[in-house]
Amino acid sequence: LRTLVLVLGDQLDLDASAFDEFDPSQDAVWMAEVAQESTHVWSGLARIALFLSAMRHFAAALQSQGRPLHYRRLDDPDNRGTLADELQAALERLRPQQVTMTAPGDWRVWQAIKSTAARAGVPLSVRDDRHFFTTVREFAAHAKKRRSLRLEYFYRELRQRHGVLMREGGPEGGQWNFDADNRQSFGAEGPGPLPARSRFEPDEMTREVIQLVQARFASHPGALQHFDWPVTREQALQALDQFIEQRLPLFGRYEDAMWPGEPWLYHSQLSAALNLKLLNAREVVQAAESAYRRGHAPLQSVEGFIRQILGWREYVRGIYWTQMPAYAEHNSLNAERDLPAWYWTGHTEMACLRDAIHQTLAYGYAHHIQRLMVLGLFALLYGVRPQQVHAWFLAVYVDAVEWVELPNTVGMSQYADGGLMASKPYIATGRYIQRMGGPCATCRFDPEQRVGDGACPYTTLYWDFLMRHESWLARNPRTALQAKNLARVSASEREAITQRATAIRRGDVGVAPAPKR
Ligand code: FAD
Repeated sequence: LRTLVLVLGDQLDLDASAFDEFDPSQDAVWMAEVAQESTHVWSGLARIALFLSAMRHFAAALQSQGRPLHYRRLDDPDNRGTLADELQAALERLRPQQVTMTAPGDWRVWQAIKSTAARAGVPLSVRDDRHFFTTVREFAAHAKKRRSLRLEYFYRELRQRHGVLMREGGPEGGQWNFDADNRQSFGAEGPGPLPARSRFEPDEMTREVIQLVQARFASHPGALQHFDWPVTREQALQALDQFIEQRLPLFGRYEDAMWPGEPWLYHSQLSAALNLKLLNAREVVQAAESAYRRGHAPLQSVEGFIRQILGWREYVRGIYWTQMPAYAEHNSLNAERDLPAWYWTGHTEMACLRDAIHQTLAYGYAHHIQRLMVLGLFALLYGVRPQQVHAWFLAVYVDAVEWVELPNTVGMSQYADGGLMASKPYIATGRYIQRMGGPCATCRFDPEQRVGDGACPYTTLYWDFLMRHESWLARNPRTALQAKNLARVSASEREAITQRATAIRRGDVGVAPAPKR
């Protein structure tokens, strides 16, 4: 065997760089399902099922192309359970002259592969991932030039370099960013009829995976009865098409909005297909831009959507690969509390958290504002150790892979990197959630109140956060105003806020009893 091409569960692209010069008469592909990938965090059922089903469909696609394949199934009786052990056994058995792969997305996996290949004495060659617009080297060069990293400058550089939404050397529409137009809520009347979402009924292969996951990971969080994610490239392309036609035009306007009982709104739901590489980021950006050029979607929506992919997605990848492994350990606010147990069940009286967690467990999905300003915000204000928040976010979402999840959690949402990724902590009272359409009307807590029995825990904990971090918040120009408002709070009210915050953290407030079975 000349080359063994190693394909990971999030590299399901027949055109990946690892396949350049692939010769079926001398080369073969290697893939392995291993339990460790589902247990190193307490992975949700939908996430496990998605990865396994997509991997098996990809294996079938490889075979139909005549690419020789060595595939280890989770239920092979002698499966060794870890990537390193399986790879070592494969290298001993197949004795390839070399191993080739596309750059992996995950630091832990990369370490395991590197050391296994070195131990076996097999040369390992790693190729750039063409799925992304930038390489980590380019990001590092960009970062070197600057004192602090900010999305905006990186995003502008990429727009120019790749000619995305550009006109005569400047940004289309005369401005780089339409963020200010992308913050509307649905108002009292609600979103009205929403476009139907793309649903992909599980085929036989997926049903078999679902049974396997149910049997093997019975104690894991989440559910499988709603599983309908795209698991093949064809399905992912259909989902992309459906998004562009039906949701993109209003994506921008309602990007930050919430509505009770409506998990999907105008979001694309393409993150999992992108992260598994069923879709290429370039084709997604191109499809959005061409919707603008043919007059189907307004610039405000198209720019907002492209900024998420060409901007944030590339930016967090650069942060991850230039900062690991130290990044995973950051805890600049010294937050040391345990994640409340109800994050795994949704048994809380706070309606917004209950909704977001139930939806997360049912589908493995929540949109960005729910992740940042409901689930992440509560953990930040409560003072949860960032590594526990990270383990939760990495476990429960179908799109969760560490390179994108970790900077979003540790950096953007918990501000645990001390401001490397975001210029200020994302903090707010319950009023923000109310304004953006959260289910406050049905909640027993009042977002206007910071003390007293009906006070919204977000509002109490927000003021408590300001008090605990007053001095550095006052020094940061982006949070100085928030800190200034604190000066108007009397000593006795401060005392009452602290008491209420303590009661919340003790679990005397907000925790709902588990339902009787
Ligand atoms: P849309 O709202 O339709 O956005 C379009 C696409 O833009 C997404 O599919 C995604 O690929 C990209 N995107 C949007 N926001 C971001 C962002 N902040 N960073 C990187 N890419 C972005 N995204 C993941 O893919 N995996 C994760 O594990 C993940 N964990 C997160 C954890 C926290 C605490 C937060 C605040 C955000 C996280 N995100 C993660 C980013 C974002 O919330 C999801 O990408 C998005 O909600 C996925 O839904 P969608 O496909 O409908 O996105």
